[in-house]
Amino acid sequence: MEPTPFFVAGRRTHGVDEVTVHHPYDGRPVGRTTLATADQVEAAVAAAAGVAATAAALPAHARAAALDHVSRRLAERAEEIAALITAENGKPVKWSRAEVGRAVSTFRWAAEEARRDSGELQRLDTDPAATGRIALIRRVPKGPVLGITPFNFPLNLVAHKVAPALAVGAPIVVKPAPATPLSALLLGELLAETELPEGMFSVLPLPNERAAELVADPRLPVVSFTGSGPVGAAIRRAAPEKHVTLELGGNAAALICEDWAGDEDLTFAARRIATFANYQAGQSCIAVQRVYVHEWLYDGFLPRLVAAVRELRTGDPTDPLTDVGPLVSVDAARRVQAWVDEAVAAGATVETGGERDGATYPPTVLSGVPRGAKVCVEEVFGPVLVVDRVENDGAGFAAVNDSAYGLQAGVFTRRLDVAFAAARTLEVGGVIVGDVPSYRADQMPYGGVKGSGVGREGLRSAMDDYTEPRVTVLTGV
Ligand code: NAD
Repeated sequence: MEPTPFFVAGRRTHGVDEVTVHHPYDGRPVGRTTLATADQVEAAVAAAAGVAATAAALPAHARAAALDHVSRRLAERAEEIAALITAENGKPVKWSRAEVGRAVSTFRWAAEEARRDSGELQRLDTDPAATGRIALIRRVPKGPVLGITPFNFPLNLVAHKVAPALAVGAPIVVKPAPATPLSALLLGELLAETELPEGMFSVLPLPNERAAELVADPRLPVVSFTGSGPVGAAIRRAAPEKHVTLELGGNAAALICEDWAGDEDLTFAARRIATFANYQAGQSCIAVQRVYVHEWLYDGFLPRLVAAVRELRTGDPTDPLTDVGPLVSVDAARRVQAWVDEAVAAGATVETGGERDGATYPPTVLSGVPRGAKVCVEEVFGPVLVVDRVENDGAGFAAVNDSAYGLQAGVFTRRLDVAFAAARTLEVGGVIVGDVPSYRADQMPYGGVKGSGVGREGLRSAMDDYTEPRVTVLTGV
């Protein structure tokens, strides 16, 4: 197996130490790459800084053409790329296909945004002293972007940093997750097929300490990080003067409100929650982890939820019918088991699941969990759901807010007043009405409050993040 090359200033290259990437399901080697040397990192950063002015001046058609090309090529190679995501990440191939589909639209949408982005004209003559003046406001890149990404969406979360950077004309250096570098390297192949100027992108597999050096490098003034809370906090401390976006973890909640009472409604909510607590084995920052059910509905809802969870097929992620595959590692599954055991020792009931098998953890539903247990207050990042009853919708809002995190919340209601009360009251970046908190459209602003992060992603938001307004005042108009 030849090591997969990485990219320094757009050119394929190899580094020194070889790393092997393993399939989380059975541990077999699925690929190899090498780590970038200090000289290669320096070359990537110097090239990004050197090309920044040229990149900022790239015409919209050139930026859009590159983005459209990547989108088209991702679509053409979708099956192969989905298989690669499954091989390095272990997610069931049906979810890998969905991830590729999302990356296709992330790049396509970025191309559209690049074409649409015309700046803004602001009249200044609302003030008598400014009669005859207008301001032309254009957004210009702040400089090269450093993108650091996690293992759980090894393609689309890289796309979420690369596509907006290229859309605004900012060079980007990507540092993919150590467990899952191959999808990012494949994306590098597609970027290398474009006419983008040399230095516009680099993809550097690096150990964490070396990534920390990149965070501190003043030539990369924008840092876009997606990953865990402690690493995000360390990055913020290490780069206080930089523009840092942090997309961190969560323990997302769904609330079944009093009006969501019909049989079909309860079955629908149970199925959606079962699916989105367990997709990617719960390794999504917005996977449902906590469910609060109005007490009148609890006894009708719980058996439906347990039945829906038991219908999920757990097993080999390469099987197109598999719903739930392994966690990223045996250690991750051991940690989930320890947290479940802790909840059970504190009095929780296992409604279904609860026994680890290697790196695979079965979809698990817990009831009667003390609110202070780790499976409630921490981010489980595994296929575990905690179900609890609440007295009324207001108590449900309070329960959702009783968290150190705040990414998204799902509120099952059809009442407009309840939906707006949720939007007003819930301390989250997004409220999803009538569905699970796990819903995300790639163009919408996305991100969290409290321990879930700082700033927003989503095409437009990231483009705003990577740029700043430059004003030209015209006189005598
Ligand atoms: P992680 O924090 O361990 O690693 C994320 C990235 O940071 C990796 O590339 C890693 O190599 C790098 N890194 C680690 N230490 C570093 C350092 N000191 N300096 C610079 N970079 C460093 O996260 P993970 O385990 O890969 O991913 C899971 C986490 O990501 C979960 O907490 C999940 O909720 C979060 N996540 C958040 C979102 C979101 O949009 N909010 C999306 C997906 C995942």
